[in-house]
Amino acid sequence: MIELVVLGSGSAVPTRERNHPSVWLRYMGEAFLLDCGEGTQRQLALAELSYAKIDIVCITHWHPDHALGLVGLLHTLETESVARTIHVIGPDATRNVNGFMASAAKSEKADIETMDVPQGGGVVRETPYYRIRAFPTLHNVRSYGYVFEEKDRWHYDMDKVERMKIPVRVLEELRQKLVINYGDRRLAIGEVAERIHGKKVVYTGDTLPTENTIEAAKGADLLIHDATYLEKREDKYHSTAEDAARVASAAGVKQLMLIHFSKIYADARAHVAAAKKIFPNTIAAEDLMALKIV
Ligand SMILES: [Zn+2]
Ligand SMILES: [Zn+2]
Repeated sequence: MIELVVLGSGSAVPTRERNHPSVWLRYMGEAFLLDCGEGTQRQLALAELSYAKIDIVCITHWHPDHALGLVGLLHTLETESVARTIHVIGPDATRNVNGFMASAAKSEKADIETMDVPQGGGVVRETPYYRIRAFPTLHNVRSYGYVFEEKDRWHYDMDKVERMKIPVRVLEELRQKLVINYGDRRLAIGEVAERIHGKKVVYTGDTLPTENTIEAAKGADLLIHDATYLEKREDKYHSTAEDAARVASAAGVKQLMLIHFSKIYADARAHVAAAKKIFPNTIAAEDLMALKIV
């Protein structure tokens, strides 16, 4: 199960209802932030989530509305001597984080590990259980979206396993290799287990609609897409609600969440209505909205 809380659904200028962008995600005891706009610490407090338990922060790009909250968060972790490593992933993350820390003028070094996203994107974190992949988006600065992908799992049919008298150590080997020599024959994992497809969440950050997002979001359970505007605006490097809906439809995602609304809109009802004409399963991100992907 992947848990999500929208910490900020607005864009460059915060409003009474919407803070700068940030999405909190939790998977198997690890907590992630997708972007960390100014005020994210306060939003964490309002959502009753712990700033001290953030493991990984993925920054799409360094526009202040997406990254400025990191200065405060890292400063807090240092001040409170939180004994935990925080990983910051982003384009040029090392240089930017070093700059932040220098400006905070702290002498002691927080336990921060940075990872610079390779130019063309790619896998930026992988464990036996999940993978995070960055993909280039289309903004007016170097910018990446992130795919959070749970790996497929196998659920053993224990009745079958017992009937076939397969020992536990063999099951572990089978899980790793998928096909093994067992007794006098080949044994494939599919004979005794069912594949559970991993869940997939994609977050674009700021972007125009792009093929890269369609490719990255193929079959995703949830696509969180820039939908700053209702009408097209030239040279803004942001998407409209309809743009986001077309991407969701082309990628065949299960659900679309619109985010990063401009302050010029009082609410997101018109965005959702416009998107639903193209992609029916659309919702609007609202600050402190919680979601579970099961
Ligand atoms: Zn933005
Ligand atoms: Zn931006």
